[in-house]
Amino acid sequence: MRIVMKFGGTAVDTPEKVKHVARLVKNYKDNEIVCIVSAVAGMTDEVVSIADSVRRGDHPQIREFLDKAKKKHEDIAKNAISNKALKEKALSELEKTISELQDILGGMVLLGEVTPKSLDYLMSFGERLSVPIFSFALQDIGLDAQHMTGKEAGIFTDSNFGEAKPLMDTTKLRVSHKIEPLLAQRKIPVITGFIGADQHGSITTIGRGGSDYTATIVAASINADEVWLWGDTDGLITADLKIVDNAQILREVSFAEAMEMALFGAKYMHPRALEPVMDTGIPVRIRNAFNPKHPGTIVKQNPGRVSQKIVKSINVIRHTALIDVSGGGMVGTPGTAAKIFDTLARNKVNIMMISQSPSESSISMVLRKSDLDKATTTLELNLLGKVIKQVNISDDVAIIAVVGSGMRGIKGVAAKVFGAVARCGINVIMIAQGSSELNLAFVVKDKDCEQAVRALHDEFGLGSVRK
Ligand code: ASP
Ligand code: MG
Repeated sequence: MRIVMKFGGTAVDTPEKVKHVARLVKNYKDNEIVCIVSAVAGMTDEVVSIADSVRRGDHPQIREFLDKAKKKHEDIAKNAISNKALKEKALSELEKTISELQDILGGMVLLGEVTPKSLDYLMSFGERLSVPIFSFALQDIGLDAQHMTGKEAGIFTDSNFGEAKPLMDTTKLRVSHKIEPLLAQRKIPVITGFIGADQHGSITTIGRGGSDYTATIVAASINADEVWLWGDTDGLITADLKIVDNAQILREVSFAEAMEMALFGAKYMHPRALEPVMDTGIPVRIRNAFNPKHPGTIVKQNPGRVSQKIVKSINVIRHTALIDVSGGGMVGTPGTAAKIFDTLARNKVNIMMISQSPSESSISMVLRKSDLDKATTTLELNLLGKVIKQVNISDDVAIIAVVGSGMRGIKGVAAKVFGAVARCGINVIMIAQGSSELNLAFVVKDKDCEQAVRALHDEFGLGSVRK
């Protein structure tokens, strides 16, 4: 089999874990394997926050960050790799990369600015530091691994720094050209997740959590049989275990369902991560590197009959805010919604959920709490008194999303959902369902959400049977 395996940051953040996952790869060595590796857990966040220190010209903070990053990676390398020569090689590569990082940061401080382009360059260091460690750890146990960046692997993107989009035709050509010969020589390519390059050769990143996406891009490029996303959970789950004790791991879900669940944080996955493999139907397994006996969740085109339950999971996004804008002037005026959303978009406010009553006199939207201030200010400054009359806010709400493709065309699902919630005496503030009927989402006060999730999990019998 040809398998693309991705290892998340929490699978490579200690020397013990690196050794463990290297042995895991070795268990499958009779297959053709490509490894995609994320930055050590927390590293990308630290890089993002050091960009703020750059803007402030905070030298001590930058110094401290560099020392910490150097020590962290060196410690992992020293203790994960036994062979002296390989250890030396890994350390000297880390040294070179850290000194490049130091130079870049120095240059950025001198300029006193962080552009989207330089931020992407900066963000690439997390993966550029983790990948050599992983690759030498594989060599340490006798595997023939060769590491490279996503750019070197041939991932070609547009220049939308921070959220660059891979241009798949060129990418497929380049990646297969680079990777296939290595596989033919029985080598294991180890590629940085998250990174590509644009037409000018500048390093781009493809969005936070992008290593899963890298894995599927590479898989589609080399016609892999499967993608395995190794992390530290057993798979996608029917509900958050912190809320529901008897939540179960889902055995099979469709691509569309997995995408809905990913967006709702069941497993934080890049929203476009499944796109490259959806067309070709390459199955994706979500597995636990620290419990590899568990089969995990398989995401595929047509899950079997047993798993075609009406509802598969109850998801929640907590601590969000709701804005309701209203005004008689909105009724029958084309372009009102466009104006509202355009104004918010231009001020970089992301809207998570929308609903409008057919009377057109109000539009409700849910957004992150952290965006609330910016959103209300933007609306007040630009539209209040013109397009809209009133802005109302509820500032601690939760979105609950009931996901499952079996809901499509089945009558009574909504009645069951809202019946269960009503029996708990919980008020539903807003409702939205896409016409795909894959997802029924509604909003309640945050303090009510745990009770609602438990009631729904019971109502659809999600805890009782293995799916
Ligand atoms: N290191 C990147 C991030 O933290 C990509 C990833 O982890 O998938 O977003
Ligand atoms: Mg990650």
